[in-house]
Amino acid sequence: MKKTTGSLPSLFSAAFLFLVLVLLILAPFSQAQSTESGISPKVRAIHDSAIVVDTHADTPQRFLDEGFDIGSTDPHDTGHISLDKAKAGNLGAEFFSIWVDPDTNQGHFARHTFDLIDSVYEQAARHPDRMMMAFSVADIERAHREHKLAALMGIEGGHSIENDMHLLRDYYRLGVRYMTLSWSNTNEFADSSGDIDDPKVQHHNGLTDFGKQVVLEMNRLGMMVDISHVSDKTFWDAIATTKAPVIASHSSARALTNHPRNMTDDMLRAVSKNGGVVDVNFFSAFDDEDFRKAVEAQKKDVDAAVKAKQEKLKAEGKTPTYLDTDGIEREWMAKIPRPPLKALIDHIDHIAKVAGVDHVGLGSDFDGVSGATPQGIDSAADLPKITQALLERGYSAEDIHKILGGNLLRVFGEVEKVSREMRAGN
Ligand SMILES: [Zn+2]
Repeated sequence: MKKTTGSLPSLFSAAFLFLVLVLLILAPFSQAQSTESGISPKVRAIHDSAIVVDTHADTPQRFLDEGFDIGSTDPHDTGHISLDKAKAGNLGAEFFSIWVDPDTNQGHFARHTFDLIDSVYEQAARHPDRMMMAFSVADIERAHREHKLAALMGIEGGHSIENDMHLLRDYYRLGVRYMTLSWSNTNEFADSSGDIDDPKVQHHNGLTDFGKQVVLEMNRLGMMVDISHVSDKTFWDAIATTKAPVIASHSSARALTNHPRNMTDDMLRAVSKNGGVVDVNFFSAFDDEDFRKAVEAQKKDVDAAVKAKQEKLKAEGKTPTYLDTDGIEREWMAKIPRPPLKALIDHIDHIAKVAGVDHVGLGSDFDGVSGATPQGIDSAADLPKITQALLERGYSAEDIHKILGGNLLRVFGEVEKVSREMRAGN
C-alpha cells in the first residue's frame, strides 16, 4: 500500500471515472440479471467481494469413476460442481474430498487414495486457465486474484494412511491439507460416530496412542485435523491432543438436528476455545429433523436395494462404485420433501451464536449427498442465496465474509504457523 500512496493521482482519478462509467453502463444489465436470479445487486456485491471457500465436495468420485470433466457445460448434469457453476457462485476455493470406500477397496486403501489425488490434478491440468492446484492460504489468495478456482484436497477417513506415518507424510507432500480422522467406519486408531453403537466393531474409546501421534504429526506437517465423522470421544481426544486449531469440514449442529454426525453445543464451544471452525454441511438429513427422520424410516429399504444392486454387479464380475449406490439413494432421497433454505441458515446461525461468528463456515458436501440439499441450493451457482439469507437475518457484510471463507483462511493460516513453529523446534 505504501508503495503506491501519492503516486500518479491523476491516473487514479481517471481510472475511478472510467470505473463509474462502466458501472453506469452495466447497471441496467445487472439489474435485469439479478431480478432473474432473485439476488439483489447489494447481495451480489457482498458475495462477489468475498473469497468463498467450501471445505468438502465429493466430486473426485465423479472424476475417477465417471470420467466427469469439471469443464462440463451440460445443462442436464445434476452435479453440484463444474467450473461454470463455481464461477456463477463465486466459489474461490474447493477442498476436494479424497474418500476411499472402505468396503470396496479392502487391501488397497492407499492405491485408491493416490488414484483420487491424481484425478484432481488431472482436472487442474486440463483447465489451467480456470483452475489451479492450491496448497496454502497464499495459493488461495493468488487463485482469487487470477480469477481461478483454487483446488485443494482433504482425505476423508484415516484408514487411507494404512496405519503408516510415512504414507501420511507422502499425502501431505502431494498436497493434502486436511484429514478427517475417521469416516463412517472406525479404523485402527480412531472411533467413528458411524458405527459407535455396533458391538461387532472393535472400538478404542476414542483415539489410540498412535491416533494421538497422527494428530501431532498432522500439526507438525501443517495438515488440518478434521473432526467431522468421528465419535464424540474421538472428538474430545483430538481437542485435548492438537496443538493447532481443528476444523469440522462438513458437520452441522446436533441441538437442531439430532444426528450423531452433528456437533453438540459443548463441542461447538470447545472448537471456539480451540480457535477452529465448524463448516456447516448442506445435507438435508443433517439440517432438518423431519428429513432426518424420513431418511431413518426408509433406511432398511434403501440398504436392501443397494445391497441387491451391488450383488448383481459382483455376479457380473464388476466392482460396484459410489455412483452405482448414489443412483439408488438419489431415487429414495427424492421421495422426501426438500426442507426450505431456512434449515441450512438456521444451522449457520446457531453455530454463530453458540461458538461465535469467527467459528462457522461452509462445508457443502456437494456431490456427496445424493442430491438431498435444501430448496434453492442445486449447485455451487446458488451460493449467493446463502449470502442473501444471512443479510436478511441481519449479518453484516464483514461477518458474512468470515462465514463464506474468512474463518477457514484464518484457521488454515494458524495451522501453517503452528507447523512452522513445530518444525523449527525439531
Ligand atoms: Zn462425509
